[in-house]
Amino acid sequence: MNYENSLEFARRMDANDVLGPYREKFHYPRINDKDVIYFTGNSLGLQPKIAKGYVDNIMQDWANLAVEGHFYAQKPWWDYHERLANPLAKIVGALPEEVSVMNTLSVNLHFLMVSFYRPSKKRFKIICEEKAFPSDQYMLQSQVRFHGYDPSEAIVEVKKRKGEHFWRTADVCAKIDEVGEELALVLIGGVNYYNGQVFDMETITKAGRTAGAIVGWDLAHAVGNVELKLHRWEVDFAAWCSYKYMNSGPGNASGIFVHERYLDKKDIPRFEGWWGTKKETRFLMKPEFEPIETADAWQVSNPPVLSLAPYLASLELFEAVGMDALLDKQRLLTGYLEFILRAIDKEVDSTFEIITPEQRGCQLSVFLHGEGRPLFEYLMKNGVIVDWREPNVIRLAPAPFYCSFEDMYQFGQILKMGILSK
Ligand SMILES: *Cc1c(COP(=O)(O)O)cnc(C)c1O
Repeated sequence: MNYENSLEFARRMDANDVLGPYREKFHYPRINDKDVIYFTGNSLGLQPKIAKGYVDNIMQDWANLAVEGHFYAQKPWWDYHERLANPLAKIVGALPEEVSVMNTLSVNLHFLMVSFYRPSKKRFKIICEEKAFPSDQYMLQSQVRFHGYDPSEAIVEVKKRKGEHFWRTADVCAKIDEVGEELALVLIGGVNYYNGQVFDMETITKAGRTAGAIVGWDLAHAVGNVELKLHRWEVDFAAWCSYKYMNSGPGNASGIFVHERYLDKKDIPRFEGWWGTKKETRFLMKPEFEPIETADAWQVSNPPVLSLAPYLASLELFEAVGMDALLDKQRLLTGYLEFILRAIDKEVDSTFEIITPEQRGCQLSVFLHGEGRPLFEYLMKNGVIVDWREPNVIRLAPAPFYCSFEDMYQFGQILKMGILSK
């Protein structure tokens, strides 16, 4: 693509964008009487305008039907979560029965590790990426201690090479080989939250499983952002949150994936609750647990319908658009952002360094050598919502659903002003 740093070019791109009409379907915060340029869809996605109606329906049904809403609401509550499995399965490349929605992300990864981190004296180690998202570090450390092992021995981190800002697939695979028969679990963030790198999930999954380990993925920054083929890659398990690229609302519910090969295993260790037992006999209130033969067997409680409602609303938009169109636009839009950054960098003779490698989704992480927090504050004051990470990095994630090419162009202009006005 021959990009140009001009308003006409950006507007032409927007006019040809099949996702253009979707911009209208989201609420934007406003600064200085203008819609913001929103780069933090990797932290909290914008609110789809249809979400409120979905929540209002539940409130109405609750008011009008009370307990009867479980079975007689417009969308009955008792199996409300099942409506999310089909659209989600398409987004993560799974069979519908491999997907379920429940709890929140860190909680689900703990529940899944109950089933999939079963250390023994010989095989007890976990491989993860260095500087993993803090919650993931706490999860792994506490799981290891819970089983009576020492995190400093059991947790093996794959490092980046000196002077590099990304992990090499070969280094992850070499570490898997090195830990070998002591390796119980590989658990990595599929897209790294800091540098935006997409890990080669297929290759790493194969390497981990060949070594006799279980391989799970934290897909918080991957779902709705990059192509996933969890079933075909033979991933053992995965989980994601829904409030980042999935636009479901703050702190909202998490999805899980459990590969088909585990779904008929009745004796798999698992923390169980009444929503994981067979629907046909659930309300007989029998003492025996009969697992549903889908990922729903990991359900514990009855579904949090009020939080699933905006998630379902968002999924309807994903259904309408399809991941292919989102991914096509994402490549063009993030490519344009990169072009704009480099163009402005040249104009103002600055020294931005994009630390995101080529294997990326929509996020670019930019090291602002020579600039600092004042530039970040200038951007925020001028209607550009970005995210600041120590020591000197801004993360820019133009979500293809609601960010435009003109946004990228205008961002470049504001950035230039911010640097020149110092
Ligand atoms: C956002 C994120 C989380 C958040 O976990 P919650 O349980 O939803 O608070 C966890 N892990 C990673 C890698 C994340 O990016």
